[in-house]
Amino acid sequence: MRSKVIAGNWKMNKDLGESEKLIKDLKMSLNFDLGGTRVIICPPYPSLALAAKLLEGTSIELGAQNMYTENEGAFTGEVSPKMLKAAGCKYVILGHSERRQYFAESNEFINTKARKALSSGLIPIICVGETLEEREKNITDQIVSVQVKACLKEIAAADIERVIVAYEPVWAIGTGKNATPQQAQDVHRLIRKLVSQLYSIQVADRVIIQYGGSVKPDNSADLLHQPDIDGALVGGACLKADSFAGIIRAAASSGKK
Ligand code: PEP
Repeated sequence: MRSKVIAGNWKMNKDLGESEKLIKDLKMSLNFDLGGTRVIICPPYPSLALAAKLLEGTSIELGAQNMYTENEGAFTGEVSPKMLKAAGCKYVILGHSERRQYFAESNEFINTKARKALSSGLIPIICVGETLEEREKNITDQIVSVQVKACLKEIAAADIERVIVAYEPVWAIGTGKNATPQQAQDVHRLIRKLVSQLYSIQVADRVIIQYGGSVKPDNSADLLHQPDIDGALVGGACLKADSFAGIIRAAASSGKK
């Protein structure tokens, strides 16, 4: 059985002092049995080392929101996987729709980063998802298939089980309008089918597929009960410890009958 994975993408929010407060609040809020649920926070780069220190001895894991494809060199403004590892990161979000939209990141570039993350010992959380226009044109499956195939290209079978795929319909991110559990489940099932075609049914059975897009404590249980939804990538609601904890609680209870 796949464990649930809840990741919080802080985006460009929280300076050092605010990061410290949020992490301390979160540690206090997670005063229940996680039931095997993995919890990840992805603060901005300047807060990573502090976050790693504050998370010592807890079961909360650390991720970054992006990385570059090289370990060092003349790439002003970029951050390498080696630096992320040294700062205490285990995960890195790649290909978030905001990176695709504002920084013109292509599937090919995201794939290069994903392969570099894996060879550096980081677990990539690879984001895919259609825009509203694409959904309205009824080409969601086509768009997501192209993204999944391109982003997973040449990732070895031995590595694929470490990859997390996040289905994030662009129209649901930060809009307060989440996909219905059935809409999300349909795309998650498609992604798992694609992974089984690219690798094997056994591998597809083990790959974690998160849903992201306006997940909140009050809609998380229904989404997380879907058979192919293995967790959530959370934006806005992870910036308040009690809301993030509410989503984690829903994940922790989703396996219990
Ligand atoms: C995200 O940024 O990945 C996200 C899903 O944001 P929100 O939860 O705010 O929609």
